[in-house]
Amino acid sequence: MSSHRIQFQQTGGPDVLEYVAVDKPMPGAEEVVIENHAIGLNFIDIYFRSGLYPAELPSGLGTEGAGIVVAVGDEVTDFAEGDRVAYAQGPLGAYATHVAMPARSVIALPEAIDFETAAAGMLKGLTVQYLLRQTYAVGEDDTIVFHAAAGGVGSIACQWAKALGAHVIGTVSSPEKADIARKNGAWQLIDYTKESVPERVMDLTHGAGVPVVYDSVGRDTWADSLKCLQKRGLMVSFGNASGPVEGVNLVELNRGGSLFVTRPSLGGYADTRPRFEMMCADLFAVLESGDVQVPIGQRFDLADAGAAQTALAERRTTGSTILLP
Ligand code: NDP
Repeated sequence: MSSHRIQFQQTGGPDVLEYVAVDKPMPGAEEVVIENHAIGLNFIDIYFRSGLYPAELPSGLGTEGAGIVVAVGDEVTDFAEGDRVAYAQGPLGAYATHVAMPARSVIALPEAIDFETAAAGMLKGLTVQYLLRQTYAVGEDDTIVFHAAAGGVGSIACQWAKALGAHVIGTVSSPEKADIARKNGAWQLIDYTKESVPERVMDLTHGAGVPVVYDSVGRDTWADSLKCLQKRGLMVSFGNASGPVEGVNLVELNRGGSLFVTRPSLGGYADTRPRFEMMCADLFAVLESGDVQVPIGQRFDLADAGAAQTALAERRTTGSTILLP
């Protein structure tokens, strides 16, 4: 296979993305070269392309994929040519036919998990792992609020939270997305473009509020999310789909009844090899058990990564989106 990648020379809209022929990468001493069979599309890719998150230019893009190891650096002992692997963190550059990845960011893929599922579910699934199992340990009979419930992260979260015995109040922007989230196990859905989320949440919880809100929408939902919490509840602000949350007034946390706030990232949880392996083992177990399936709502050719990003940014996708080299 000849080698191609998506790159950008300057930040901006999807038109800054170029699909170019490149030399096949050579592995550094601690790297493996992976021939991608499927690549994951994530909102974070848009943050890098647009300049919200910094990237050294010119830059490749993407952090998630799955495929076969085709070359191994001199100091790599854990992987060999022909291994089936996946990755979700590491240097930008997953939008490519071939990628050189530090071996410490790569995990062997169980036979039961196919490449498309891995590319669609590694970054989002590991995110759900830390959100539901570590940031706040969701338990039997907890009622939780999860925004963008029909999206990539949201679809996995609805299923995993249900498997943990929790009741998910999900938010979505259309009846079609509500149906999808319901099929994924959400207990109640709120169309946050039409209804007041705090009012519905207080109704559904008999005025008590919820112990945790998972909010990846950011700017548009921040204030209402705080109003859904019970006293000493936890606001987990983990994304910026509508723009970053800025100018937070801490008095709002006092007004809500001694609230807590965290702004987590996958890199902050999967920060060591043992922690990364533990989280992957937990994710692979729920995938292999069938408790969680990764819905792939859209597939695009790698060369059409810009169109894929536009669909994601314009809220036209459901579940996960993958790029195919
Ligand atoms: P999604 O598939 O969830 O797509 C984003 C969804 O957000 C949209 O479909 C839309 O759902 C909702 N949304 C609400 N307002 C807007 C808006 N103004 N513009 C665009 N979308 C909006 O994406 P991902 O699964 O890739 O990621 C979900 C979120 O999780 C992102 O914010 C991402 O940055 C974050 N994330 C954070 C991680 C971390 O570790 N901190 C790791 C992975 C993801 P609807 O139409 O129903 O409102």
